Amino acid sequence: MDSFDCLIVGGGAVGASLACALRGTGWRIGLIEATAAPAGGPAAPGTGHDDRGLALSISSQRILEGIGAWPVLAPRATPIRHIHVSEQGRFGATRLSAEDCGWPALAHVVVARALGDALYGQLAAAGHCDLICPAQLQGVEMLPDRVGVRLARDGRTQLLAARLLVAADGTHSRARNCLGVATQGRDYGQSAVVTSVTPARPREYTAHERFTPQGPIALLPQGGDRHGLVFVRHSAQAQRLLELPDGEFLGELTRQFSRRLGDFKQPGRRRIYPLRLVTAARVAGPRHVIIGNAANTLHPNGAQGLNLGLRDVAVLAELLHAAARAGRDPGESAITTAYAERRRGDHRRTVNFTDGMARLFYNDSPPLVLLRRLAMWGADALPPVKKELIRAASGLRGMTPALARGLPL
Ligand SMILES: Cc1cc2nc3c(=O)[nH]c(=O)nc-3n(C[C@H](O)[C@H](O)[C@H](O)COP(=O)(O)OP(=O)(O)OC[C@H]3O[C@@H](n4cnc5c(N)ncnc54)[C@H](O)[C@@H]3O)c2cc1C
Repeated sequence: MDSFDCLIVGGGAVGASLACALRGTGWRIGLIEATAAPAGGPAAPGTGHDDRGLALSISSQRILEGIGAWPVLAPRATPIRHIHVSEQGRFGATRLSAEDCGWPALAHVVVARALGDALYGQLAAAGHCDLICPAQLQGVEMLPDRVGVRLARDGRTQLLAARLLVAADGTHSRARNCLGVATQGRDYGQSAVVTSVTPARPREYTAHERFTPQGPIALLPQGGDRHGLVFVRHSAQAQRLLELPDGEFLGELTRQFSRRLGDFKQPGRRRIYPLRLVTAARVAGPRHVIIGNAANTLHPNGAQGLNLGLRDVAVLAELLHAAARAGRDPGESAITTAYAERRRGDHRRTVNFTDGMARLFYNDSPPLVLLRRLAMWGADALPPVKKELIRAASGLRGMTPALARGLPL
């Protein structure tokens, strides 16, 4: 049986980032990914590397810098210098600005495909990780001092073993299920229609989030006049939006978003994503850890999912580099337990923040309406509240990992 020090299941943005981060450990690393890269292009394998625009926080930028992917990505990233948050049918807005924190940008927008290309380019150049792709994880077995992994590859079964198994295979994680880890959560009954559009009166480097009774509408600057659109509706309504002719789709967007940016034109290809909250009951156990969407799949309001997953990567990479320097076994329970303990607070806060926003903004009971108006006023009018909100949304609260502080591993 072929043996590795660390096997990562799932080559999405989180699994591929961890693979990049483990360069320099001197260990044998394997990255198992189910789907092949599309033929005829340099695109990365994996289901998540599509055209969705991702807002990456300052801490994510630093993590990507630390693992070597940011220099390739930077020319394709658009800074967000201002964020405008409003609510349909109510006056007032919350305005956040990079100047509030003395930063050059609050976040950057990258297209998921470009991030995938940067990460896989980095992996190919470094050559420290075996890419096992396309191959689907089928089963997991605990051995005395290893985890055994059964894969389906080229129509055959392949057996591998690792001292540490990392589940990074997304929301419906097979690895998590094989490891017997239960999940909790709920279906939001909403879906996100994702595309890109051009507004008639764009505001440079400004992201917009508008809350409506059916769900948020987010516009992320993508360079020039183009904006990535995340249009969240109840699922049946989202399916209808997906199928509308372009003109009617743009008309519906203008009606729901307000005329602040004028009419919208030139819609790109539309894709739909059903939204659910999924949290793993535990994120570590004997010789395994769970990271990224496999650990926590969030509502996209607040743009936190990948940012949280990259902080999982930063903490785990920090622990594993220290273990490698000390000649320790990467699957030791002291290491997997330390990962779970260091991630607990951030996971709880981020799940509560995104799920709390989903509950607060789609409920018209008078106490909640009052609470949300107070929250939006406080975030706009009180500089310390504003600063704290920006720091929290940027993943800079609590025990921040070294990579997220811009320090080397
Ligand atoms: C509409 C939308 C907008 C979003 N916007 C933002 C944003 O602005 N900012 C942000 O931070 N986050 C955002 N997110 C969240 C972000 O996209 C996810 O958190 C992130 O992509 C998760 O990455 P991952 O690698 O954990 O999982 P995935 O991308 O799901 O990757 C999992 C990988 O595992 C592979 N896999 C699955 N099963 C197996 C198996 N059995 N064997 C081998 N491989 C397997 C899959 O092929 C896939 O490539 C958004 C999400 C949505 C839906």
